[in-house]
Amino acid sequence: MYAHPRYSPEAISELCQAHPLLNELIALKPVTWFNPERLPVEQALAAVGLTAEDVQDASQRLDRFAAYFSVAFPETAISQGRLESPIRKLPKMQQALEAQFQQTLPGELWLKMDNQLPISGSIKARGGIYEVLQHAEKLALKAGLLQRSDDYAKLHSAPFREFFSQYSIAVGSTGNLGLSIGMIGAKLGFQTSVHMSAEARTWKKQLLRTQGVTVVEYDSDYSVAVAEGRAQAAGDAYCHFVDDENSLQLFLGYAVAGERLKAQFEQADIKVDRANPLFVYLPCGVGGGPGGVAFGLKLAFGDAVHCIFAEPTHSPCMLLGVYSGLHDQISVQDLHIDNITAADGLAVGRPSGFVGRLMSPMLDGFYTLGDEDMLSLLGRLNEQEDIKLEPSALAGMPGPWRVLQDEGYLQRLGLTPERLANAHHLVWATGGGMVPQAEMAQYLAQAAALAGEE
Ligand SMILES: *Cc1c(COP(=O)(O)O)cnc(C)c1O
Repeated sequence: MYAHPRYSPEAISELCQAHPLLNELIALKPVTWFNPERLPVEQALAAVGLTAEDVQDASQRLDRFAAYFSVAFPETAISQGRLESPIRKLPKMQQALEAQFQQTLPGELWLKMDNQLPISGSIKARGGIYEVLQHAEKLALKAGLLQRSDDYAKLHSAPFREFFSQYSIAVGSTGNLGLSIGMIGAKLGFQTSVHMSAEARTWKKQLLRTQGVTVVEYDSDYSVAVAEGRAQAAGDAYCHFVDDENSLQLFLGYAVAGERLKAQFEQADIKVDRANPLFVYLPCGVGGGPGGVAFGLKLAFGDAVHCIFAEPTHSPCMLLGVYSGLHDQISVQDLHIDNITAADGLAVGRPSGFVGRLMSPMLDGFYTLGDEDMLSLLGRLNEQEDIKLEPSALAGMPGPWRVLQDEGYLQRLGLTPERLANAHHLVWATGGGMVPQAEMAQYLAQAAALAGEE
């Protein structure tokens, strides 16, 4: 069912002739590609089966569960059980990068700090946790144990944990999705197993094991971990498999970020419209996180928001899929790109076909960057703003300068100097909040070593 085509050397060389940028991808050069087929949001939305109501439904579900979070994860009580992250302006980082790239950035550089999301310290706390809640609610409603009007704090109790313990949840992950699903799955009482790919960090596996989660380790890459998890769950009616490559629920959970950001911007008096464009830079792995967030942003801000995905030069799977039009029918390994990167959250060789097909008309573009760039940006952000992120979360940081360097793109979208002067550039910091100190010290040492080489 999940067989993928194999490509002969001839087929690859024909593909590269038709799509010249692939030669640069194969050479592992940093590339930038703006999407010539971006559609006005109305048109793009009309073509997809998803609507604002679907995202609204997800948002209301999260509201119902707020009472549960306040008691089950007391650290969320200060935000009334809502899992959300702050935004922050980065004036010092902006200056440092303007010097580094030798180009002033008109407008302001901001950070969306999903590294501070409660429970798992990454963007996966949006989609991953949401999907488990959706599943749990469905089971409890069906069993007659719960009504939508109830106080969901009652789910944090022995009878509910016992009820959920008849069921299991499985997921394949590069680390952070497993961490999010494992934490919430185990807390609700589900038997939870997480299939971790080779790049998943040891501390994540250890943390999950202390929570009673079964962690299965693989020597191979993410796609294999997902396929194995999927195979083990198939045929078990009591097991729900969270399918990172194809899940609508994950996607909707991420999409709630759009209206949340809109409210935060209103509170901060930040205007977004045609005269005041918003650029958002999203690190991309399999695509569900950035895809879902971008979908929510398009619903919230329409054509005034410009979404750009960032990937490692060694794992440019979504760029490859969208640019070639082959989506999940091609992997970076088909081009002999190794999918080995320090940005473990982005180490994905084959993109989600579901997300690529749905989102490509809504995206402005893609770019790739090297591991050294992510690591030195990690050091730079710590030094300038005292913010510590994991390598993946820095992928969006050079994005504003990639935008400035493409005259053709700016002209095509009518992004005049007047509009750019009012722009907000929001880098989505997707993770790093739970990285142990010793591990963070290693990242910072690597960054310092790179700075020393300059
Ligand atoms: C998972 C992850 C991403 C990308 O999300 P996808 O859904 O895989 O595209 C980005 N950053 C971090 C830190 C992640 O864990």
